Amino acid sequence: MTQSFAGHGASRGLALGRARVRLPHALEIGEQHVPAAQVEAEAARLQAALEAARAEMRTLREKLQGALSRDAIEFIDLHALLLDDPELVQALDGLIRQERYSAGYALRVQRDRLAAVFESMDDPYLKARLDDLDHIIGRVNAHLHRREPLPRGTAGEILVCENVAPSEIAQLQAQGVVAIVSAAGSPLSHSAILARSLHLPLVVGAAEALARINDGDVVMVDGDSGRVVVDPDAAELHDYRAREQQEARERRDLERLRSKPTRTRDGIDIAVYANAESREDVARAHALGAAGVGLYRTEFLFLQSEQLPDEEEQFLAYRDAVLAMPGRPVTFRTLDLGADKADRAGLALANEDNPALGVRGVRLSLLYDRVFDTQLRAIVRASAYGPVRVLVPMVACREELVIVRRRLARAVASVRRHGVAVEPPPLGAMIEVPAAAIGVHGLADAVDFLSVGTNDLVQYLLAVDRNNDALGDLYSPLHPGVLRLLAHVIGAGVQHGVPVAVCGEMAGDVRLAPLLLALGLREFSLHPANLLELRRAIRDCDLAALQAGAPKLLQARDRRAIERWLAAATQT
Ligand code: PEP
Ligand code: MG
Repeated sequence: MTQSFAGHGASRGLALGRARVRLPHALEIGEQHVPAAQVEAEAARLQAALEAARAEMRTLREKLQGALSRDAIEFIDLHALLLDDPELVQALDGLIRQERYSAGYALRVQRDRLAAVFESMDDPYLKARLDDLDHIIGRVNAHLHRREPLPRGTAGEILVCENVAPSEIAQLQAQGVVAIVSAAGSPLSHSAILARSLHLPLVVGAAEALARINDGDVVMVDGDSGRVVVDPDAAELHDYRAREQQEARERRDLERLRSKPTRTRDGIDIAVYANAESREDVARAHALGAAGVGLYRTEFLFLQSEQLPDEEEQFLAYRDAVLAMPGRPVTFRTLDLGADKADRAGLALANEDNPALGVRGVRLSLLYDRVFDTQLRAIVRASAYGPVRVLVPMVACREELVIVRRRLARAVASVRRHGVAVEPPPLGAMIEVPAAAIGVHGLADAVDFLSVGTNDLVQYLLAVDRNNDALGDLYSPLHPGVLRLLAHVIGAGVQHGVPVAVCGEMAGDVRLAPLLLALGLREFSLHPANLLELRRAIRDCDLAALQAGAPKLLQARDRRAIERWLAAATQT
């Protein structure tokens, strides 16, 4: 019988296919036994996962030899030791052989036993080793489960799961998955951003998904509205076909805008840049008339492979992106790993108590000297092929920019020594940390441009996790505090003659274009999927009228007042 329920549309597009259900495999699994005949195979599976985790640590150490601070090396060595600890290894094997526990459950039981010992210790240093234990248990558990390939035959299927990691998205699409429905997750997550980039319809926060959908059910997914239909009847299928046709017509209408300028009704030109994660995105953005790339998320390259991309591989990727946007700037954001973006090579630290406030963005780059210098050299080399800019993520203070500028100058000098004539690329800072936004006057003369990452800025400003769906509407850029801070940053840019763009998802929300224009924004950077729609919305705006309404907008006391302002602005 047809049934439907809703999640949040996180990546646009319609899809129809059979469901492939992937059940969660968190460490908090309940007691699980294996049949006697499977004990040997289960023990071997655990050994393989332990060995894979050890190999991972070895490779990481080798690859980064010399690039790490001593603390980081000690951290890796300690984890490698724990992985070899006979107490852990033999106890796990015993639990599987004697108790016939599944490998996952054995991991949990042994973790809890050791945790109880650590917790009972008085020595704070030993107590703190519990984090290390959790780190390595987490790695082994990941090898037990996360890397399990999807069963064969997923082509044309819709993956239904608890959650999906950014590093899985491209692989799933390559396997032919046509859409994803996840019970958890949020439209602001990096998985969602990547899904949008790959045009893979995604519905997140569909809490009922795992309870309502069975393997093999026919499912219809609407990545715009977040609606999921199980076992659609004839009427639903008819609507689906009609929607498909209507979308094709709308796309054709929008195509006409490609070669038209992005100019408001009263004649002011607005720069619309694209966000990109790959050369394909860049080429698409170019075809849609983007002014350039305002944000190229370089970490995508790092998320896909278990090996760190070397200088040559990065250079080729960056060069091709530059070539795909002839004559227009491509803004490479330096590595922004950490928080919810864990790479497969293991650079991002695991098990931080508070990863969103931890070693992420520029902090991670400054921890791994060699990785950062390699990336800067690759970007600088690419600048020989066209205009390039360098954008630094998660900047909290001026000192970080001063160091990065010095390192960038060194990269330029090193590339020149190899006979390539290059100039230092313009350097910009992402404004994502509230203190950087409030203190933007102190950063302005250390940069050539600024780009506001509203995804993170909103989460830090409102203390609302961008990935936590349970917080629902609390995550909203339509908060008076957010708007005032944006106006402050944009105003500081004007005062110091430093261009300011917004490159968070807020810039890609076409409904908000009048609001951002009223706040003084003249540069947008958004995913190519909405680029033409945004250009159409801007062409419908009267900038002078919007600016006249800005004081009222900034006086709004709550979200409803802002929405009323927006509704009125859209009608004029
Ligand atoms: C942002 O935070 O707004 C941003 C553009 O960066 P990311 O989404 O990659 O964190
Ligand atoms: Mg960010």
